[in-house]
Amino acid sequence: DITERKETENALGEATRRIASLTNNSPGVLYELELEEIEDGTLRANVTYVSRGLERMLGYPPEWLRIPGTFPTITEPGSFEMRQAAFRRCLAEGQAGCKFVYFAANGSRVSVRDKFTLLRRTPKGGVIVGYMTDVTEEEALRRQLTEAAKLSFLGEMAAGIAHELHQPLSAISLQADTLALTHRADSDQHPLVLRFTEKITALCGRAATVIRRVQAFSRRNTDAAAPFDPAVAISDALGIMQSRLREADIVLAQHFPEIHVMVMGHEAPFVQVLTNLIGNAIDAYELAADRRHAPRPIELGITRNGGQVVVTVADRAGGIPAHVLSRIFEPFFTTKPIGRGTGLGLSISRRIIEDMGATIDAVVEDGGTRFSIVLVAVQNELVAC
Ligand code: ADP
Repeated sequence: DITERKETENALGEATRRIASLTNNSPGVLYELELEEIEDGTLRANVTYVSRGLERMLGYPPEWLRIPGTFPTITEPGSFEMRQAAFRRCLAEGQAGCKFVYFAANGSRVSVRDKFTLLRRTPKGGVIVGYMTDVTEEEALRRQLTEAAKLSFLGEMAAGIAHELHQPLSAISLQADTLALTHRADSDQHPLVLRFTEKITALCGRAATVIRRVQAFSRRNTDAAAPFDPAVAISDALGIMQSRLREADIVLAQHFPEIHVMVMGHEAPFVQVLTNLIGNAIDAYELAADRRHAPRPIELGITRNGGQVVVTVADRAGGIPAHVLSRIFEPFFTTKPIGRGTGLGLSISRRIIEDMGATIDAVVEDGGTRFSIVLVAVQNELVAC
């Protein structure tokens, strides 16, 4: 009799251990909540069980996660309201789910899919059991696919528009030249006509340059990568941006290695990426009105790191808030006033950099933004300066 009881207890202990091990080692988070409607109309969620997955996912101590009222402080704005609405649906329909973003202890964003089922009703609410999964990577992949689709759409559209505009622009330019040549030279109006036709030709030239640039952007660069000197690319970009740098009172600092480095890639598009990063840094200073009289440094750096070369462009213009930082490489994403930003600079830059087998990233530090481009170094080509 006693033996039988012992066996039952052992079996029960083993089953309990197995369930605990399964829930705590599961890649997601299993939890149980008691939902209770309180006076202000919100549903208070008392955590009655949460598996260890939550600590692993977020890096906070478990007891801290159980403190009522913690949820809104570690999630993106709006997550609390969204989850409340889903809880209400669950109480009404028996099942519901939602998606939201946690801020983990290490500062990273964790996208979560949360699904729950009503276990039983209580006088003021109900008990639910839920399962949360980390879908950060899945979301990032989906975003990249959407971005790629947007860029390819933009490419097709831009190529089409550029093609359509090329013809009338050439015709306008030609008509202006003809007018200048055929207008009577002895007429009083002649100097005026010449001035206007010259202006028309110059403006057509400018428009043609824009069209060429759009066409160049819309084509993917399939040329083979070739070695080039990043220091020369930086100096070319600074040359292009010279007048803007001067007008904005920028103080330049350049940190180059003593040993000359060469990288693999496409030099002209790389210069374009650098001009875009420098332009963004200048814009950041100009749009941060409160820092008008402070010094405005832009640091350009090249560092060799084994088989890689890192080119950095950093400013101290105030940095980028986290919710903006996660979106800056999206096509059409801009925080600049209409007419100043298109939201295409960084998405196109990233494509150019990826076509070179390199990567580009941004971090906010020291009151500013640092963009780092990690390029492939040319091996065996270290040349002493
Ligand atoms: P655009 O410059 O046309 O807005 P980009 O793709 O180049 O497009 O940049 C997207 C957004 O990234 C900008 O609108 C701005 O909010 C942000 N950004 C980029 N560089 C910086 C920087 N150095 N400092 C602050 N914000 C920046």
